Amino acid sequence: MKILLAGGAGYIGSHTAVELLNAGLEVVIVDNYCNSSPVAIERIEEITGKKVEAFEADIKDKEKVFEIMKQTKPDCVIHFAGLKAVGESVQLPLKYYRNNIDTTITLLECMEELGIKNFVFSSSATVYGEENDIPYVETMRRLSCSNPYGWTKYMMEQILEDAAKADSELSVVLLRYFNPIGAHESGRIGEDPQGIPNNLMPYIAQVAVGRRDHLTIFGNDYETKDGTCRRDYIHVMDLANGHLKAVLYADQHKGVEVFNLGTGNPFSVLEIVHAFENANGIEIKYEFGEKRAGDLPEFWANADKAKEVLGWEANRTIEEMCRDTWNWQKNNPNGYNN
Ligand code: NAD
Ligand code: UDP
Repeated sequence: MKILLAGGAGYIGSHTAVELLNAGLEVVIVDNYCNSSPVAIERIEEITGKKVEAFEADIKDKEKVFEIMKQTKPDCVIHFAGLKAVGESVQLPLKYYRNNIDTTITLLECMEELGIKNFVFSSSATVYGEENDIPYVETMRRLSCSNPYGWTKYMMEQILEDAAKADSELSVVLLRYFNPIGAHESGRIGEDPQGIPNNLMPYIAQVAVGRRDHLTIFGNDYETKDGTCRRDYIHVMDLANGHLKAVLYADQHKGVEVFNLGTGNPFSVLEIVHAFENANGIEIKYEFGEKRAGDLPEFWANADKAKEVLGWEANRTIEEMCRDTWNWQKNNPNGYNN
C-alpha cells in the first residue's frame, strides 16, 4: 500500500513516515518546507533504511499536486499540510484560511479526478470548542473555537464530511490529536519549531539546551489541582502508530469516522516541568506569567473509541516523552540547522 503524506516533512508527518515505512508501506512526501526541512527526509530514510519519494510542492498548487498523484498513484492521502500557530492565526487569519482550506480542497479534487478514495486528516481537540464537558468524546458536537486556526480545523472537518456524503466510495478518517510531544527514540527526527516556540515542550527543551533563559508558565490560578493548565500529552510515536491504524481502517471502510488520539491522562504544566527535570536530571528555570488568551483550564481525551475500533492505544509514558524530547534536542540543539 502506498501513502501520500501532504506535509510529511513536518513534526508529526516525519514520525508517521517512519512508522508507515517500518510497517512495510510505501511513502510519498509532498511538502513546500514552509515549516520544515528537507533534512527530515534524509533522516527518515536513515532511520528506516528505506527510500521515500519526496516532492517539493505547495499543496495549494493543483496542477503540481495532480501530476504528483498521477505519477505516484497513492492508495491513501494523509493531510498534515496545515499552518498551526494559534497566535499567528489571530494576526493573519486569511493566510490560515487560505492555506488550510485550500490545501484540503485541492487534495480532495485531485483525488476525485484520479479515483483515490482514502483520506486521513490531522484534526485537533480544538474542534471540541470552549463549551463541551471533559473528557471529550467523539459523539460531542464541534463547538465554537477560540481562534482562526481552530476554525480552519472545524471547517475542514465539515468539508470532508460533505465530500463523503456526496461520494459513497470515499473513506475519511478524522484524527483529533491532543498534545503531541516527544521524538523518535533515535533522536534523529523531532520537533523543530522556527523562531520562539509556541508550545510547551519545545520551549522547555530550548530552556534545557540553553537557547532560552527560562520558561514562562501562563497562569497559576486556574481552577486545577496546582493552578496550572492540564492537557493530554501523547508521545508522537504513539500518535504515528494511530495513523498506521487509521490508514488500514480507511482501506476497509467507507464514510466518515472520527477518533480522538490521546492518552486520557492529563498532566499540568508544573507536572510536565518536573517530569522533564526528573527524567533528564536537568533543572528548568521557570516563572509564572499572565494567562494566555484563549487557553482552557483543562481538557483530555476519552480514548475508548480508538481502542475499541482501531485497536490502538497510547502506551508510552510521560518519562519516555520527556526523555525522547531531550535526546532529540541535545543531539540537535539547533534542530535540523546544525
Ligand atoms: P508541522 O508544521 O511540523 O508540519 C506541517 C507540514 O506541512 C510542514 O512540513 C509544512 O512545511 C507543511 N506545509 C504547510 N502548508 C503547506 C502547503 N501549503 N504545501 C505544502 N506543505 C505545507 O506541524 P505538525 O505539528 O507536524 O502538524 C501536522 C498537522 O497536525 C497540522 O495540520 C496541524 O494543524 C495538526 N495538529 C498538530 C498538533 C500539534 O500539536 N503539533 C495538534 C493538533 C493538530
Ligand atoms: N504553556 C506555558 N508556557 C509556554 C507554552 C505553553 O505555560 O511557553 C502552557 C499553555 O498555557 C498550556 C500548556 O502549556 O496550558 C500547553 O500549551 P501548548 O501551546 O503546548 O498546547 P495547547 O494545549 O495550547 O495546544
